[in-house]
Amino acid sequence: MSHRCSKCSRQAIAVIKYARLKLCREHFTAYIERKVESILRKYKLLTGTRKIVLAVSGGKDSMAMTWLLWRLAQKYPIKLLAINIDLGIGSYSKQSSDIVKKYSRELGIEYVIVRLKELVRHNIEDLSKLARRSTCSVCGLVKRYLLNLVALESKADYVALGHNLDDILAYSLKSFLSGDYISLVKFTPVTQFVNDIAVGRLRPLYKVYEREALLLALVNRIPFVVDECPLRPESSIEFRIKSFLNNLEEEKPGIKIQWINNLEKTLKSIQSNIEVENSTQIHKCKYCGLLSKSGICGFCNTTKKVLGKPLGASLRNIIKSLVEEKLFASSF
Ligand code: SF4
Ligand code: ZN
Ligand code: ZN
Repeated sequence: MSHRCSKCSRQAIAVIKYARLKLCREHFTAYIERKVESILRKYKLLTGTRKIVLAVSGGKDSMAMTWLLWRLAQKYPIKLLAINIDLGIGSYSKQSSDIVKKYSRELGIEYVIVRLKELVRHNIEDLSKLARRSTCSVCGLVKRYLLNLVALESKADYVALGHNLDDILAYSLKSFLSGDYISLVKFTPVTQFVNDIAVGRLRPLYKVYEREALLLALVNRIPFVVDECPLRPESSIEFRIKSFLNNLEEEKPGIKIQWINNLEKTLKSIQSNIEVENSTQIHKCKYCGLLSKSGICGFCNTTKKVLGKPLGASLRNIIKSLVEEKLFASSF
């Protein structure tokens, strides 16, 4: 049965049950754009020039985020730099880097591809085997470290992550279930810069459902890598939480958006207290000078154990010249 758009007479392509809306392509796109714009406005990121590093894996969320921020950059003084980390996961990584490179060029966004193997001589699978840890946990550590490094060296104000509403609920519920309540404070739309050792994080898709990000990409012909990472665990806790929440959403449309709105409000009101508490645990890594909890950051600690020496400082120099070279002719 075909539906008509609630805002005009065109054919609807999206039924947004929780908002009781049926929307055509144009009105659906505008609806998602408003969600993203209002996050940036609320956290005062639309005033003054903002330099934002986009963490782009090539998947639907990060590519949709790239397009949405590129659209905002046409209206506001926002400067963008895309970064893709090639983790050395065979054809998957090649596909990801190629799509990011091609789309960044198409949109006229400056980009950097950082290849893990060139930096530490190992791909992510080998590095995690040597570290005797799960691939995803080492991968998360490496990605967080490199994103922060590129953002600091390019003097960016924020790193934008493509986490959608479903991701954030799943991550926060996982932290809650494991008793890690302090980590919950990270799950805000924006986190702040810490002196010169950590760049703030921005989650533009905080209020965008995973299905909405996918539909936005499809109807606006935003390219993305369809394949999942081959190293992804079969049925992760996050995946199970998402299925559970999707079933709840079917029964009670809007439960996820209400939850994220409440999470945002609650975290905002307790964040300042927790930040004071956490600030006592912030140190500079003695090897690379970046953020650490105990005086040695996770990246230097892991590379020291696994490869015999902490690689943070040498990586810092490589990234610095990579970024300077890239940005030499651009105004980022
Ligand atoms: Fe990295 Fe795991 Fe994600 Fe693959 S699934 S990109 S290994 S975190
Ligand atoms: Zn319409
Ligand atoms: Zn370090």
